[in-house]
Amino acid sequence: MDEVTGAQLIAEALKSQNVEYMFGIVGVPIIEVAMAAQAAGIKYVGMRNEQAVEACRLYSKFSARPSSLEMIPAVVEKAVRSSIYGRPGATYIDIAGDMVNAKIDRASVRFVSCCPAPPVSQADSREITQAVRLLRAAQRPLIIIGKGAAYARAEKEVRELVEVTGIPFLPTPMGKGVLSDDHPNCVAAARSRALLQADVIVLLGARLNWILHFGFPPRFSPHVKIIQVDLCAEELSNNVRAASALLGDIGAVVRQLLETVRSWRFPSDSQWWLTLKEKMTANAQISKSLALQSTLPMNYYTAFHHISELLPKDCIIVSEGANTMDIGRTMLLNYLPRHRLDAGTFGTMGVGPGFAIAAAVLEQTQKSAQRVVCIEGDSAFGFSGMEVETMCRYKLPIIIIVINNNGIYSGVDPETWKEMEKMGDMTTIAPPVTLLPEARYEQVMSAFGGRGYLVRTVEELRSALQESLDNTQMPSLLNVLIDPASDLFNYLQASRISTYFGAI
Ligand code: ADP
Repeated sequence: MDEVTGAQLIAEALKSQNVEYMFGIVGVPIIEVAMAAQAAGIKYVGMRNEQAVEACRLYSKFSARPSSLEMIPAVVEKAVRSSIYGRPGATYIDIAGDMVNAKIDRASVRFVSCCPAPPVSQADSREITQAVRLLRAAQRPLIIIGKGAAYARAEKEVRELVEVTGIPFLPTPMGKGVLSDDHPNCVAAARSRALLQADVIVLLGARLNWILHFGFPPRFSPHVKIIQVDLCAEELSNNVRAASALLGDIGAVVRQLLETVRSWRFPSDSQWWLTLKEKMTANAQISKSLALQSTLPMNYYTAFHHISELLPKDCIIVSEGANTMDIGRTMLLNYLPRHRLDAGTFGTMGVGPGFAIAAAVLEQTQKSAQRVVCIEGDSAFGFSGMEVETMCRYKLPIIIIVINNNGIYSGVDPETWKEMEKMGDMTTIAPPVTLLPEARYEQVMSAFGGRGYLVRTVEELRSALQESLDNTQMPSLLNVLIDPASDLFNYLQASRISTYFGAI
């Protein structure tokens, strides 16, 4: 009898579904699963933080517990298929501990081969005609490119739509890079005005959730007409009733739109383009003047300006934090699709190092020279900072840049902190947003053998970043001390956002 254990069945079933990497945290009985995965030819990456795994169970598209060892391959295939068919998402399989070491005869198992690639669907042709009619009549059209367009790998079709029609576009945070941020039709620098004044919006794979202010006034016109493209039927008309609901894959649907729109072009000398360009120039001047300030400590804009000058165009940018993520999104350009990973829809902090490790493991296997740069707020870094050990263990040349303002939104300088300490019990005195001033996060990296840099000036920032980019053998961490009050403006805005949230 050819015996096989539960652990082997799990590993082999994953391998049959073309799974190449496994990320985990061992303990009994995960050790057996991890070893079986390695034996089956899957790369195993041992992590330090498992909160994301627990989140999977709560938010997964499919969750199941195989009733017997024989069922494991079928359940694994269904989980993999469910994760990539329809709206992509995580799935969860719960396997009882005693199953992992239990043995059965291999001949009794129903093995399942790799699931086929997801089917691609097109939109109803009447809805396409309606969409094109709306577009042709638009005075102030706008295309919003969401992360669905990145998942759909529809960059070629989306580029053609933008370039044939001449319509301005805005990317969502992870839609950045589907078309390069420096594309002439990108109006990200006039985001608020574009959203507010657009009369017809083509929404390509983005939800009208809080990231897009729900599509509601005062951030959108109450009369805006939405042409919504999504492969998830339940998403259509969420928050704003779609004027044209195009259910299907973005690549296929955009091709349908292109066939119908033919040679129609939105005029480049229109009032709409003039008003957007005027706003973009004004906003660019404001960020430029902030970026060129030479006072110390640096502000966010100065730090990001110099970082962006040195980063290679093909690097993968991982980012999380509050201001660090928000300001970084506007200051750090993306040139390629699927090259930006951030805290996403739920603003989940602590995901950055894990994302960076996954990206760097892939780069290491593919032997591409692309760098992974993980830009973290000091608070965000704290959530999964211990993954630095994982990076050092596997010698992943990730560059972590901690933008350290001594707090969450804002902090205080070391002198003020000392004065506060003299006043009494810090649990009653220290503002809740503060963290320890000038914490030496770079020493977390050097503790495990990576390179740590403490950075206060532009010169130190540039030379530490250049050295880190030249080092392809080990990870580095730049602890960039910026002005603890540099974000007062953004902090006020954030409080306004929470007031708004409270009201709905
Ligand atoms: P963003 O954060 O960029 O706004 P969201 O996660 O809110 O993006 O929305 C992405 C949307 O894209 C989801 O509604 C999802 O159903 C949709 N989507 C994902 N893949 C595809 C695809 N291949 N074709 C069409 N829509 C897609």
